[in-house]
Amino acid sequence: MSTLTASILSDRINALAESQTIAMAKKARELASAGHNVVNLTLGEPDFATPMHIKEAGSKAIMDNFSYYTPVAGIPELRKGIAEKLKRDNNIDWKQENIIVSTGAKQSLANALSVLINSGDEVIIYSPYWVSYAELVKLYEGNVVELKGTFKNDFKPTIQDLKNAITERTKVIMYSSPCNPTGSVFSKTELLEIAKVVEQNENIYVIADEIYEYINYGEPHFSIGSVDAIKNRVITVNGFSKGYAMTGWRVGYLAAHKTIADACDKMQSQITSGTCSIAQKAALAGITADLSSSKEMTKTFTKRRDLMYRLLNEIPGLKINNPKGAFYFFPDISAYFGKTDGKTTIHNSDDFSNWLLSNYYMSTVPGSAFGYEGCIRISYAAADEKLIEGCKRLKDACATLK
Ligand code: PMP
Ligand code: GLU
Repeated sequence: MSTLTASILSDRINALAESQTIAMAKKARELASAGHNVVNLTLGEPDFATPMHIKEAGSKAIMDNFSYYTPVAGIPELRKGIAEKLKRDNNIDWKQENIIVSTGAKQSLANALSVLINSGDEVIIYSPYWVSYAELVKLYEGNVVELKGTFKNDFKPTIQDLKNAITERTKVIMYSSPCNPTGSVFSKTELLEIAKVVEQNENIYVIADEIYEYINYGEPHFSIGSVDAIKNRVITVNGFSKGYAMTGWRVGYLAAHKTIADACDKMQSQITSGTCSIAQKAALAGITADLSSSKEMTKTFTKRRDLMYRLLNEIPGLKINNPKGAFYFFPDISAYFGKTDGKTTIHNSDDFSNWLLSNYYMSTVPGSAFGYEGCIRISYAAADEKLIEGCKRLKDACATLK
């Protein structure tokens, strides 16, 4: 039998990088199953159980035999519920026909990029960015234009940076707010400035990833899709994974002008069809109930954020930003570059994260995964004891680097 190697695979897949968040989580799981006591602060995944009313709706859907294919774009009542939520929370006035339900916000992002980008189109990505953005753009043959934020500016690129990055080939601007991996949040004023620039460039579209909308500790969430002048050119992406603790149920959505929404429907019809029928009924129970469960979870995340901020600040050499949303810290660890524990020399964030995992069984994600060298991402979607132990290991580890 001949051996198959990657050379037989398509150029497309060979050019695609594996999701590094998922790769680090896999390594951490392997070490844990080999018997090591791993503190896994890798994945951005709420550790809470899905709220009871949502689980009950899922169980009921199973017992009611709600087990057939649904329309590709989602069951009508869920699309309607999402349209009402967008009006209520985001001041975005789209109808049911503008909503496409998908198998997670990741699929919605992929749908949106795949229907908008032609080969060679430029996509401006606010950096640090969520791990899949750049790879998805490349998959659809777009050119990634990274707009780098600075630690000083809470990792938010300025409006002048945006203006400087726009060219005739710019097709899309994309960002997440609250941001994964930094936890920074764009203010209404900042988003209105971005909207003004988009208004003046009529061939540019915005993909606004609002999946952390409810996990916000500061000023009220603002959606750029609510700005009338550019409404038709904004694709708002959101989902149930974070705000409703439903990562494994796999439900996300996008809201867009009908031309774009229909295109995503068509794309999805050839790739995955409709989202799991049971999960859609569960999501419907989430979106039509009040937000008390989401608010409770956010209260806990706020306490954890405060705890982490205190603990991380006790570690010499780290520069810490204080996240305004999501559930990540993105400390700058570059003070340790060039240092060694006698065996390993740390040159970059990959070295740091791998060394920390192999020697201290503390799992994080290197900043390189988010297009940003010099930092690591630590998820605080975990119980206090784990956060305390994780920070202790990080502190002990850093103390050995000379
Ligand atoms: N966007 C961002 C910014 C994320 O952090 C994630 C997941 N962590 C996603 C999209 C994808 O979420 P989903 O589980 O809905 O696919
Ligand atoms: N999005 C989560 C994270 O950033 C889950 C992993 C992934 O989908 O890449 O950790």
